[in-house]
Amino acid sequence: MYELTAVAKHYPRGRTTVTALHEVNLTVPDGGCLVVQGPTGGGKSTLLQLLGGLDRPTRGTVLLDGTDLGSLPESRLTRLRAERIGFVFQGFNLIPTLTARENVETALVPLGTKATERRSRALEALDSVGLADRAGHFPGELSGGQQQRVAIARAVVKRPRVLLADEPTGSLDDSTRDEVMEVLEARRRETEPTFVMVTHDSALADRADHLARIEHGRLTVVRTPAADGAAGETEAGRRGERAGPVEDGCPSSTTP
Ligand code: ADP
Ligand code: MG
Repeated sequence: MYELTAVAKHYPRGRTTVTALHEVNLTVPDGGCLVVQGPTGGGKSTLLQLLGGLDRPTRGTVLLDGTDLGSLPESRLTRLRAERIGFVFQGFNLIPTLTARENVETALVPLGTKATERRSRALEALDSVGLADRAGHFPGELSGGQQQRVAIARAVVKRPRVLLADEPTGSLDDSTRDEVMEVLEARRRETEPTFVMVTHDSALADRADHLARIEHGRLTVVRTPAADGAAGETEAGRRGERAGPVEDGCPSSTTP
């Protein structure tokens, strides 16, 4: 579960500062699924970096399961990221000199998983994203959609408590976008992490039950699901008609 209170992020830029986030308040329940939509420069990546402990807020607190990420020593933050957080990025961020399987294995190395187990779990994860037959391929030998599926396998192979996706379909064409979202959604349902995806794509946002919008660093919650008993202020009534498990709060590649 994430609890963000009055989170601000300033970046120094010469003599001035850029305020990337203003006073963000946000809660994402355990196993919940939030989509944050907004334009380029709105603060989406900054927000995700704070959620993932890749950066620290200038002010305010980012609590993950009660732990204040902003005040953890770097070594503990690194360990927490390795153990609990899976990332998917717009640019895939695969290591070009490693095969698909080796790329997936990199997520298990910091956990001390033995080589034989790393290998079998990586192959299993690649199988789960439909790439069993591409394990020995290098990223340069794979299409964009396939590379992103390898990145998804890498993100989920350790079964993280948290899965964060920064414009995961931002570099893909429309048909590949649907294919990648389908795989991401299937892995999310299987592994049930707390999930946050940021995107500029309003088509993806339209499908989300828990939706926030971020623009000029200001975040507003657009819809909240009511399924787990949490406040479902705005859409509570509508929510009743399409009641379902909490995970239905996520965009799915299939038509709603
Ligand atoms: P988005 O992901 O929505 O496109 P970002 O979070 O990347 O937005 O950026 C939000 C704002 O913060 C932008 O104005 C951007 O220029 C600025 N920004 C982001 N990262 C840095 C940085 N490392 N240094 C200075 N400014 C930054
Ligand atoms: Mg971004």
